[in-house]
Amino acid sequence: MTARILDGKAIANNIREEIAVRVSAFRERFSTSPKLVAVLVGDDPASQVYVRNKEIACQKAGIQSDIHRLSGATTTEELLAVLDELNADPKVHGILVQLPLPDPIDTRLVLDRIDPRKDVDAFSPENVGLMLQGRPRFLPCTPHGVMQLLNRCKIAVQGKQVVVVGRSDIVGKPLVCLCMQKSGPGGPSNANATVTCCHSQTPDLGEITRRADILLVAIGKPNWINASMVKPGAVVIDIGINRIADRLVGDVDFDSVSQVASAITPVPGGVGPLTIAMLLENTLRAAEEQLSS
Ligand code: NDP
Repeated sequence: MTARILDGKAIANNIREEIAVRVSAFRERFSTSPKLVAVLVGDDPASQVYVRNKEIACQKAGIQSDIHRLSGATTTEELLAVLDELNADPKVHGILVQLPLPDPIDTRLVLDRIDPRKDVDAFSPENVGLMLQGRPRFLPCTPHGVMQLLNRCKIAVQGKQVVVVGRSDIVGKPLVCLCMQKSGPGGPSNANATVTCCHSQTPDLGEITRRADILLVAIGKPNWINASMVKPGAVVIDIGINRIADRLVGDVDFDSVSQVASAITPVPGGVGPLTIAMLLENTLRAAEEQLSS
């Protein structure tokens, strides 16, 4: 079997076009544009690229964006003061702090300081709680991107055995949560799975991943999942992004797994572009909520 390649880039482009149309309507209604501020601390090269890509995506969708750059020597208190200012600024609708933050900044304290109504990464306890209860304000960008990808590729999650490999707060845990809800971004067929979560302490990982109708992988280990760990005909979504020399590879060994899976995402060009599209979605939603209330 040769797997169908799920083209995340094309799907993300469609979503971004839809958002640009909604941003135009927003501007007509409120005579202003949604605005996102990214806070970037230090000079980590990958973070610089990520933030720049987010800025370009905002511009293309008609969303205003600013990058608030702080030196790597910034203290937790100084960063909290910046967030307090952004929280209080009515012209700023979305705030994101680019991770990772340099040591010794207290990341949890910083993320918790963002006003939940402006928390477009959806990392705050309030937004995580709302998601868990099935009444989300925003969904975290990467897991939401995965659900959109499945929905728009007409791959139903409902009734399937879904195995999530990875349990981070940013990717793994929210994916488990979204797949087990009664309804998802694409309705009931985009939820209602029977979900198993694996992590670094899971014995015999392959025995569990081979049960998956849909395998979602986010571990940060290049090419870790091979063909022997995948059920023939499974759908495999590779969320990993790993740099090997000057090449990006996923957590899934694409060459071997694409011979057994029925569908697979490439890296790059799979989930990554959807993450940015969902950030635009959340910024627009944040602005709508703030200006309508
Ligand atoms: P974390 O390092 O925070 O979490 C990794 C998770 O994988 C942990 O739960 C860990 O288990 C688990 N794990 C590690 N090794 C194994 C193993 N051998 N077998 C089973 N489980 C294992 O990473 P993130 O969730 O933040 O990111 C994961 C990957 O996704 C990375 O490659 C990252 O770059 C990528 N990513 C991609 C995004 C995108 O837009 N496409 C966005 C965000 C991340 P334990 O909890 O026991 O330590």
